[in-house]
Amino acid sequence: MKINSKRLSNHLDEVNLITADGEGMTRPAFSELEDQAHAWFIKKSKEHGFRTRQDAFGNSFATIGPEDKKGILIGSHLDTVNDGGKYDGALGVVTALEAALTLLDENIELTKPVTVVAFRAEEIGLIGSSVFTDLIDRSEGFEDRLAAMNRTVATVDDSIGYEDYTDYVELHIEQGKHLETNNLNIGVVSSIASLNRMNVTVHGEAGHAGTIRMEERKDALMHTAKILTEFERIVKSYGHPNVGTVGQLTVFPASSNVIPGRVEFSVDLRGDDMDQLNKIKEEFRKYTEDNHTVDIIESPEKEPAHMSEKIMDYIKTSAEESDFTFEVMTSGANHDANPLSRRMNAGMIFIPSKDGISHNPAEFSSTEDIEAGAEVMLGTVKKLLAE
Ligand SMILES: [Zn+2]
Repeated sequence: MKINSKRLSNHLDEVNLITADGEGMTRPAFSELEDQAHAWFIKKSKEHGFRTRQDAFGNSFATIGPEDKKGILIGSHLDTVNDGGKYDGALGVVTALEAALTLLDENIELTKPVTVVAFRAEEIGLIGSSVFTDLIDRSEGFEDRLAAMNRTVATVDDSIGYEDYTDYVELHIEQGKHLETNNLNIGVVSSIASLNRMNVTVHGEAGHAGTIRMEERKDALMHTAKILTEFERIVKSYGHPNVGTVGQLTVFPASSNVIPGRVEFSVDLRGDDMDQLNKIKEEFRKYTEDNHTVDIIESPEKEPAHMSEKIMDYIKTSAEESDFTFEVMTSGANHDANPLSRRMNAGMIFIPSKDGISHNPAEFSSTEDIEAGAEVMLGTVKKLLAE
């Protein structure tokens, strides 16, 4: 049993013809280009004999097999960031399509429906998959947010569809360096990290850079430097897969001859264990509040998403059967499999990304790695069909 590598790469090339001018792939969420990519997916699947449909929100589905049972869902998204790569999202859709086509080629008995899905607007917050799973944030301003997407509450309500499925499998590029560095073919995702955000304001006292003596100063930026050093130490002390990043920092009043009176910075903290993350946040808060003058605003955290043990086993066994090396790993990036995993059994197959580069025109995964991923996807779906 072999997937058709040529057909798979042709499909990937075809969808990547749909892009705005520029160096990378540009199919932004809710753009005409995203629409075109979905139209391509529907047309292609129809040509291959799939039953196709688009829900009111715009998620696209292509199904083979019986109609009267709960089914297996496989796929990913077709939108990209601006000047993104050829693989993030699109590869998951065409690989799922290839796995389904191979089931047809091999006349595998379809004991239940197999549906390939292309979700909308993953890159701006897993929108399509959150609508499908009825997990979209409906807090204040929901209608306005939908209006900006050219959608209504009715289109959202009509597009809740998770109850027709029991299992979801998604192939995605790793977007990190671990698989490549360790010469591994496949990553078996165990969980998608919880994302915790904080906004920290450090208060000091602005003053003349020439006249205020060092011992008389309350320099908000010097305080911040100490806080950041301590933040790194705390996160590191909890080990992998906990990661902490300060990616935004603003100094006030930002003048070369004024002592900084205030600094604001962001904290992005991820891991797969809520207990550990809470301890990190507590330690961080205690150190900063005891030693500096700060305000810390925490955004509500998102619980880690746990993948199904059953599907992880199917992915591992499928990798072993084809002599591919693999490792179980946490995904630090968010994916459509996150909301799906809260409604059904979900699993993710990672393949290596060259140099870990993603959301960039230089994003690359080799044909061999893609083939391996597609084989493992096929094997996993076969095991689900054989249940
Ligand atoms: Zn993606």
